[in-house]
Amino acid sequence: MGVVLGCIADDFTGATDLAGLLARSGVKVSLRMGVPEEAPEEADVAAFEVIALKCRTAPVAEAVAETRAALDWLRRAGAERFFWKYCSTFDSTAEGNIGPVAEALMEELGTNQTIYCPAFPENGRSIFMGNLFVGEQPIAESPMKDHPLTPMRDSNLMRLLDPQVKGKTGLANRLTVARGPEALKARMAELAAVGVNHVVVDAVADDDLRIIAEACYEMPLLTGGSAVAMPLPELYLKQGTITEAAKRASAPDVGKGAIVLSGSCSARTREQVADFLPKAASYRLDPLELSANGAQAARDWLAAQEPGQTCIVYATAEPEDVARVQAELGVAEAGELVEAALAQLATDALEQGARRFVIAGGETSGAVTKALGVTAMEIGEEIAPGVPWTWCESKGERIAMTLKSGNFGGVGFFSEALAKLDAMS
Ligand code: ADP
Repeated sequence: MGVVLGCIADDFTGATDLAGLLARSGVKVSLRMGVPEEAPEEADVAAFEVIALKCRTAPVAEAVAETRAALDWLRRAGAERFFWKYCSTFDSTAEGNIGPVAEALMEELGTNQTIYCPAFPENGRSIFMGNLFVGEQPIAESPMKDHPLTPMRDSNLMRLLDPQVKGKTGLANRLTVARGPEALKARMAELAAVGVNHVVVDAVADDDLRIIAEACYEMPLLTGGSAVAMPLPELYLKQGTITEAAKRASAPDVGKGAIVLSGSCSARTREQVADFLPKAASYRLDPLELSANGAQAARDWLAAQEPGQTCIVYATAEPEDVARVQAELGVAEAGELVEAALAQLATDALEQGARRFVIAGGETSGAVTKALGVTAMEIGEEIAPGVPWTWCESKGERIAMTLKSGNFGGVGFFSEALAKLDAMS
């Protein structure tokens, strides 16, 4: 049996979130960091393959080329249906990359319609009348309006998508979705008949997502947040496309040494860092200091910690501080300095015996996993909705790692994650 669903995610945490939700059904899910260099081998591929790219904020042409390469690998692995996964907060710039990538995939697959459904009700992301909400706030009034890389200044998904695509956008609203899969299919056909290629679909609750999945699971391409993909394994099981799901490997015993590395400045991460500071040895990274003197002071601090001691190193800062630093260094430069320092510290921590890694921040996670040389992961237990522990290999060592994007997880996420691992081993 080859790949049943080939998934392409625009960042690393998004990919683990998706893989975790697919794995809830018990099916085998394999997550690959970047397009694998080797051709797929039948014995090695899982029914659900997720390829994690790092193209959320890449130039459009680069993002499109990368996703085409991922699509090609997944097709060679046998996939006929595909899922383009982006953030439940629709993180994108005026140019892309959500729309241009979807359009390129549609072209490759010879299909002229897809859906856009970033809703994730469990995490407070819902879509009503085409407008995306975070909790009770329209996204453009939520803290996402101040995101360092993709500030969201509009809440209407059609309006966000329009400048990103050549084709026509349209809406299948909640009233249609609430009437069930057949009504939604009819609406999709109606929109297709008037040339609408890009259909935003409302969803405010998990029931809506089940209806959407049931109506759309046979389409060659679906796009959205991870939650709309969650019902797909069940649907394939029911349809008989997949028969037996390989069992998840039990949690391997890794060492105790743990490090939290946080490069996310999202509102929730700021709370999580504040909650964890009294519980661990901590070091705050200052981008201005990194720019002037490099990361040596932080590395020295880490080297001086007791082996087995739980540490947190964070660049997490309030919006005013981020703005001040960005004004001085530039957005990209500030981001790169922090990412490079956290990546270096992750490598140091591994050498010093840390085997449990908690990473906060999508971009940050990409930089850290790359530095640790992690290329594939097995999906394990979920810590918070959409955030699983994963097992992987780094420089010949077995490690546990969790990648948490900005606003995910409860306030006590960092300690909950480590406690969960203790309970498993
Ligand atoms: P999230 O998942 O919350 O969006 P990311 O890691 O994807 O987090 O993005 C946060 C970006 O902000 C990263 O590029 C990071 O390096 C950068 N960053 C982190 N701390 C600071 C800071 N104090 N000042 C400026 N930029 C920062």
